[in-house]
Amino acid sequence: MKVLKFGGTSVGSVENMCNVKNIINDGDKKIVVLSAMSGTTNKLVAISQDIKDVNLSEAENKISELQKVYFETIDQLLEDSDLNKSVREYVISIFEDLKACVSKVFSDALENQIVAQGELLSTYMFNSYLNQEGIHSALLPALDFMRIDGNKEPNIDYIKNNIKTVLKENESANIYITQGFICLDANDEVSNLQRGGSDYTATIIGAAIIAEEVQIWTDIDGMHNNDPRYVENTNPISNLSFDEAAELAYFGAKILHPQTVTPVRADNIPVRLKNTMDPIAHGTLISSKTSEGGIKAIAAKDGITAIKIKSARMLQAHGFLKKVFEIFETYETSIDMITTSEVAVSLTIDDDRNLDKILNELEKFALIEVDERQSIVCLVGHSVVNHQDTFKLFQILQDVKIRMISYGGSKNNISLLIDTDDKINTLQKLNDYLFELVTL
Ligand code: ASP
Repeated sequence: MKVLKFGGTSVGSVENMCNVKNIINDGDKKIVVLSAMSGTTNKLVAISQDIKDVNLSEAENKISELQKVYFETIDQLLEDSDLNKSVREYVISIFEDLKACVSKVFSDALENQIVAQGELLSTYMFNSYLNQEGIHSALLPALDFMRIDGNKEPNIDYIKNNIKTVLKENESANIYITQGFICLDANDEVSNLQRGGSDYTATIIGAAIIAEEVQIWTDIDGMHNNDPRYVENTNPISNLSFDEAAELAYFGAKILHPQTVTPVRADNIPVRLKNTMDPIAHGTLISSKTSEGGIKAIAAKDGITAIKIKSARMLQAHGFLKKVFEIFETYETSIDMITTSEVAVSLTIDDDRNLDKILNELEKFALIEVDERQSIVCLVGHSVVNHQDTFKLFQILQDVKIRMISYGGSKNNISLLIDTDDKINTLQKLNDYLFELVTL
């Protein structure tokens, strides 16, 4: 069985929902994972921020605006009056719950409850639409089988057992619809897999049922060789290995949640990235197959902070790095890039929530310099560090101010740290010279 995930734009309008229906209605049994309609999760995040800031009338306004969007969508989508009425009742009940949240005291648990509603709404509406169109589908509540453990990792054994049960209970259905993103945590509270987490839901399900393939359907024709939001003339990549895709997803390729390939790589389950608006386009196939060929793709991740830690005590002393790492460990902050010299170490973090406390500790034994608004530009390709064309990189970047470089940490990745203001220029330059074959 295949698992197909459709993102927010794919279920963001009645026209697109009709496209999704046509794509999935091919007679094959499948599991379909849906995101919330585009814009909904952002709205829900904003509503919970208003509750946190005690901007309660603003929260109420946003809830009413959002409810209107759903009523309009239902009226366009569901001509069948019984279905229209029952979905309307469901939507009203969700929005009544949301309104009740406004008078509650803010907590992380409340926020998780609020942001979970988008996927509940989209799946309920879409499943009713399939029923109206005579398609035998069943709605599988993700909260009946999707769970993370105390380390926020998927509890695969629990998921395997529970999904088996819910599939069995609905054996006669041809298409199973379920929510992406949402799950229970180790304490049975509603939680989620972080923003963009529906991709991760799809591959976790794929691993749990040992799917034939996982397909991630979005509004672009696969993973591009550079970021199409900032760079002109990017092209879709037809094949990526699991390693390459993991590096690109982690280092900023927005098309995939960073953890997407983790669950499926051990069982070698291919992941295909497809375009709902152009279903016949090849898209990108992510599998265990590797290919030669130098730098294949470039991605950039913003919001990086660089910290330089300098100490004369580092000179020929052992245990210095251990001391540094222990501080980051204490404040549960992971390090992305790292370079060292004999007297200093520079490293980057993308989570600066505990930055002040970390700096406080480091300042006890070292001189510290901090650069904010940095970006990691990551160049990915199989065995890229050994490829004959890679030397060109250094010529191309003559006029870019590079703060750090990481070469050889993995053979598939070269990472550069630059000022975020230089990002678009750097990405475009790399694109022109590496992929467009402009000569130097
Ligand atoms: N709806 C969630 C978000 O916007 C999850 C997803 O779309 O994958 O982040």
